[in-house]
Amino acid sequence: MSVTTGSTSTGTALPTAASAPMVLTGTPVVPGVAVGPVVRPSGAVRLPEPGAAPVAEADRPAEKQRFVAAAELVAGRLAERAAGATGVSAEVLSTTAGLARDRGLLSAVEQRIDGGTPAAVAAVEAAQQFVDMFTALGGLMAERATDVRDVRDRIVAELTGQGEPGVPRPEIPSVLLAEDLAPADTAGLDPTRVIGLATRLGGTTSHTAIIARQLGLPCVVAVGGLDDVPAGVTVLLDGEQGTVTVEPDPVEARARVEAARVAAEALAGYAGPATTKDGHAVQVLANVQDGAGARAAVAAHAEGVGLLRTELAFLGHGTEPSIEEQAAGYADVFEAFAGRKVVLRTLDAGSDKPLAFATLPDEANPALGVRGLRIARNNPGLLDRQLDAVAEAARRTASTPWVMAPMVATASEAADFAARVRARGLVPGVMIEVPSAALHADRLLEHVDFLSIGTNDLSQYTLAADRLSGDLADLTDPWQPALLLLVRMTAEAGERAGKPVGVCGEAAADPLLACVLVGLGITSLSCAASAVAGVGSRLGTVDLATCREAAAAALAAEDAQSARAAVRAVLTGR
Ligand code: PEP
Ligand code: MG
Repeated sequence: MSVTTGSTSTGTALPTAASAPMVLTGTPVVPGVAVGPVVRPSGAVRLPEPGAAPVAEADRPAEKQRFVAAAELVAGRLAERAAGATGVSAEVLSTTAGLARDRGLLSAVEQRIDGGTPAAVAAVEAAQQFVDMFTALGGLMAERATDVRDVRDRIVAELTGQGEPGVPRPEIPSVLLAEDLAPADTAGLDPTRVIGLATRLGGTTSHTAIIARQLGLPCVVAVGGLDDVPAGVTVLLDGEQGTVTVEPDPVEARARVEAARVAAEALAGYAGPATTKDGHAVQVLANVQDGAGARAAVAAHAEGVGLLRTELAFLGHGTEPSIEEQAAGYADVFEAFAGRKVVLRTLDAGSDKPLAFATLPDEANPALGVRGLRIARNNPGLLDRQLDAVAEAARRTASTPWVMAPMVATASEAADFAARVRARGLVPGVMIEVPSAALHADRLLEHVDFLSIGTNDLSQYTLAADRLSGDLADLTDPWQPALLLLVRMTAEAGERAGKPVGVCGEAAADPLLACVLVGLGITSLSCAASAVAGVGSRLGTVDLATCREAAAAALAAEDAQSARAAVRAVLTGR
């Protein structure tokens, strides 16, 4: 990521009083403008060195008690914050609280204390055991390792009198700059005190990004040069442009904040359905995982569900959920959007979303392995039972859901899936997440009724860059012109076949990129419920011809950063 002063690239040195303000650039995640002094998380917790003197046998019961008390204090604080939070934040906080109370962790610690290891050292060793286990499992499970380390640090800090680690609650509204944040730290942020967030690491699909989006907290990730900005210095964070301006001009800063406030007010008035300024209709739908999420999406004025991620409800299940259990969950979502469009995705198990009952263990390369629709190769019954459950939920709610398969690579896979879906009276579609599927979109459309582009995976497979890697976030950036070219090819195939082509990856949550996608010929956008109003109202400010002009500018750009800049120039004149 680049560091610029005004429009010219510079080093990372802080500016002198006379120079133009220094502008650091990163990947924009949540739009909005925040100005305030920099606050930073407290320093890393000092972990105890191994080799400490053993605890005398008589003192071991008390040492165990000390651990239990520290873990309970940590769990209690997190649970209290969870009670005051909602949605993903509440989930992350209560999961982390649950880890602090985890019986497996406790018994691993107690065993060590029984052998004479001091509580803090025992906590570090036992936590490492779990970190190794989660890391070996890979994918989303590997992200749990971050939660375990976070809990370990909190407990060790209590045991060694270092005070609670994490983000201090600033006295005045401040902008938080950090290397990266533990999910529980992000979820516990008070948006009245922390008004903006920038991190040096992380990508658009990281936990930090997802929670910031839910909190509506202006956020930029993967910002170079952030380490050199000291606490207390005033910064202006622009979550749409993806910039952090150090010591901005106060007049300019006030104007930018005011413009953002006016834009936020416009959002509050959004009630859908979305059209461009000249009346071209574009469905703005929501990505959900269950009935509660669907009801939140109704409240956010989503026109329907563009992606029901069915696997997320079963991540913790050891065995396949029954047809009845599945049908009840799906019916909950269909009911929330009765009479409206709901697109359900069959289990996308594997890689970053391993399901114990569906995923092959020990794959050398899970992202290129048996994931998504491919799990039906060895276990077609799993797919058939899920489709039976969808059909049953549809019957109960008198709805006709659209059903799509993830990770489809060939037309024959699409044909086989479509036959199974049609046999149950449902509407078949497939996701475009693999470049081969985009290249053969015409052939896929001979079998299915719609396509939905998963830009998160399509970018990882097009750019050959792991979507979970913060270091490669510039490559998996959804503004990459090569990715947008595949989007255009797919949309054109849809136009030729007279069938709808949507986008349901994170790209659809970016209001500027949404205009580009519409200009490329996309007919629906599906994003987090919190992003619906931003996307829908931005579309209302541009006409279709301008969206097409923006799309042409993005396709012609050299890289993601210049695509963003070119489109901003077309759409905002800046
Ligand atoms: C995608 O890949 O863009 C997508 C929507 O699916 P997921 O993020 O669940 O893999
Ligand atoms: Mg995907």
